[in-house]
Amino acid sequence: MSEIHYKTITELAAALEAGETSSVALTQAVIDRKEAMDGRVKAFLSSAPADALAQAQSSDARRAAGQSLGPLDGIPIGIKDTLAVQDQPLGCASKMLDGYVSPFDATCIAKLRAAGAVIWGRLNMDEFAMGSSTENSAFQTTANPWDLETIPGGSSGGSAAAVAAGEAIASLGTDTGGSIRQPAALCGVVGMKPTYGLISRYGLVAFASSLDQVGPFTRTVEDAALLMEAMLGKDPLDSTSIAPQGETGYAAALKTKRGPWKLGVPKEFFGDGIDPEVKANIEQAIEWYQGQGCEIVDISLPHSELAVPVYYIVATAEASSNLARFDGVRYTHRSEAAKDALTLFTKSRGEGFGDEVKRRIILGTYVLSSGYYDAYYLRAQKVRRLILGDFETAFEQVDAILTPTSPTPAFKRGERANDPLAMYLSDVYTISVNLAGLPAISVPSGFTESGLPIGLQVIGKAFGEADMFAVANAFEQGHDYARQTPNL
Ligand code: GLN
Repeated sequence: MSEIHYKTITELAAALEAGETSSVALTQAVIDRKEAMDGRVKAFLSSAPADALAQAQSSDARRAAGQSLGPLDGIPIGIKDTLAVQDQPLGCASKMLDGYVSPFDATCIAKLRAAGAVIWGRLNMDEFAMGSSTENSAFQTTANPWDLETIPGGSSGGSAAAVAAGEAIASLGTDTGGSIRQPAALCGVVGMKPTYGLISRYGLVAFASSLDQVGPFTRTVEDAALLMEAMLGKDPLDSTSIAPQGETGYAAALKTKRGPWKLGVPKEFFGDGIDPEVKANIEQAIEWYQGQGCEIVDISLPHSELAVPVYYIVATAEASSNLARFDGVRYTHRSEAAKDALTLFTKSRGEGFGDEVKRRIILGTYVLSSGYYDAYYLRAQKVRRLILGDFETAFEQVDAILTPTSPTPAFKRGERANDPLAMYLSDVYTISVNLAGLPAISVPSGFTESGLPIGLQVIGKAFGEADMFAVANAFEQGHDYARQTPNL
């Protein structure tokens, strides 16, 4: 665990401050690690080592000039291929955007740059963030560093695997229905999805705009808190972004918020479909909290079983509309076989999009079509409100909610690739959180007998990130899972 590529942001910030290492040395170590590992892990779609080293040099120069620097200064952070980074490819792991280079930075990237972070590489994902295994990438399948025969989860599988394998110190992903938390759980790292609106979506290629959020992958809860502090805030370029409410000094609050808390456990999350090892693991985690003096409250989220169907109506409806811009006319793939205006659209889209993306566009177009709109889309919106209501009722009684992050540990490659419904159920514990717009984090909570990581999900109140982090941090501090690394 002493290798530099497995250190935390907090440890590295201290080492940089003490002059024990430099950002160039650290960035080079991460580049070397990527060169050594990524032939097998395949987390990266592309990288620009010279550019990363130039950013690292600037960080070292700032430090040498005696500037007072924040904890992210000089730290290499990997980026999911759905976030715009100026002069880097922006492809969403799709043939549709192959070769496209972004002319601007997403707001979250601009904020990380302002904090001095080294923006490092493009990480693999399910095409347009649709999937739970990263097998829907048009280019490559990422392996789970804990067992290369299994998937890393998705859609931010590259972001999770890169941190788990030490190919980045931290990374960014996006979470529409679980795409940060589920791969974090399956890869044994921390993954966090903020309250809807807390981070600007400007420069995030939209999948389902009312659900999408950017968030961090890190080795520890404290590191996730630091990244969130750097990225949050109202942005004039995203009208759905919201000025933070309540406490936002998350990392400092970890030192003062020590519980004991009232923690809700929803009975609906421990029924059919959960793997017995996962269930036993999460029950143990709940007992641990109880042993620390927390009050465990049985709660009910009665509409939970409707979350997956509601999500696949709302998300596909929004996706069908958002993806209409990829038309072969402007910056996308353009079919050579097009003969006229109509075939330019149809052939370009037919060739550019993969099967899952097409399935979502067809589903979304159907639920929005006249005659079906009221029956599906409008009803789904009403149930979405009921799902939020369940959480509001629960949070009258408790400070945070504990659940498994994923019903199963990492599954084998190919196992669910031809069964979309089985794949959709991978997010059964994460999706309702997006529908309700709440923050949630997955922390490593142990391993299966065969050595695959398991994750505990802590769900917070809207803008209750400070408490959510504190509850997750307490668990992390009481265990040594965050210190464990795969045998690569
Ligand atoms: N797995 C879910 C889906 O396929 C969630 C994806 C996500 O959060 N981006 O839509």
